[in-house]
Amino acid sequence: MTNDKRCDMDRFGLYVHIPFCERKCPYCDFLSFAGCGKTVKLDYAGSLIREIKAKAKKYSDRTVSSIFFGGGTPTTLQTGETLRILKTIYESFNVASDAEVTTEANPGTVNPYMLKEYKKAGFNRISFGLQSADNKELSKLKRIHTYEEFLFSYDTAKQAGFDNINIDIMSALPGQTVKSYEETLNKVIGLDPAHISAYSLIIEENTKFYDKYKDGKGLPSENTDRKMYALTKEILEDAGYHRYEISNYAKEGYECRHNCLYWERGEYLGLGLGASSFAGGMRWKNDPDLAHYIASSNKQKYEIVRLTKDDELEETMFLGLRMMKGIKETPLITKTYGDILKRHEDLLLIERKDGNIRLTDKGIDVSNSIFADYIL
Ligand code: SF4
Repeated sequence: MTNDKRCDMDRFGLYVHIPFCERKCPYCDFLSFAGCGKTVKLDYAGSLIREIKAKAKKYSDRTVSSIFFGGGTPTTLQTGETLRILKTIYESFNVASDAEVTTEANPGTVNPYMLKEYKKAGFNRISFGLQSADNKELSKLKRIHTYEEFLFSYDTAKQAGFDNINIDIMSALPGQTVKSYEETLNKVIGLDPAHISAYSLIIEENTKFYDKYKDGKGLPSENTDRKMYALTKEILEDAGYHRYEISNYAKEGYECRHNCLYWERGEYLGLGLGASSFAGGMRWKNDPDLAHYIASSNKQKYEIVRLTKDDELEETMFLGLRMMKGIKETPLITKTYGDILKRHEDLLLIERKDGNIRLTDKGIDVSNSIFADYIL
């Protein structure tokens, strides 16, 4: 049985964006920059702290149940700066005593001192971007670490006292075979992390990989991709990880609270460059211009979208159905999507039971086309 207790709380989250990386990976379209010096990072941390202090007042009635440092690579900041940012959050917001506090980490950027200090300061979850346990594949991805360096970082995190560790892996990589992917899966479960995220590589526009692989040559075939996808579920579930979201697997009680918040349309405040927020029926995004953010973090321009009832319903469908426990079927959902739901049910793509709707295994395989049907 799945225990999604951690996903069911009344929650408010903070996302903190650190837009710096040691090197830009050729497949990545996240808002991140390589090659920024110490001064820029220091100025950025200063701006972020100003933004945190300025915005916290508005949310004094909220209790923060999750904090997520993402990027970019948060661990490229000086340890002291990261701790200063986290301390400011604790001083400015009402943070729950059992809040989930995560940092993403590139395995090539951590050290024992850093992770011990993080643990002492309140971080209790680390998400390592491993991607593959095969050094040839890592080199094609231009990752800055080898598998052996990842092992050292993973061990360092364990020794620093982290027991809630996520490992990100990817399938459908250039040169990857079903066998090499299987080896990655087996090596990862051998480490016994609490959580594993397994995504397929998506070739995004405006990346170096787009120029190189946009026609699909050099990438595993669709058939191979499907085999890898099936293998993920088989191996991870056999090893005791339950799939609680299309691409996320966890041991009992270790579902990522912060990500559940996104899928369940809980409210969160994004802090830092280009960070997204959702509260009061509105979505908005911070300014993505680094120089402008550093110069005036608390006088930013925002892109604000006030959600219509239709927007809200669509989001409920395609975010909520990403989770294996599905969503509650409300009268409005039945009224709006009755015919589509019936069709999906007849095709065995969804299951409607006890007032809930959830994707079946067959539905998960074609989830994107199912979600497209819910656009009003
Ligand atoms: S380390 Fe992560 S955020 Fe940075 S460029 Fe690579 S994939 Fe993107």
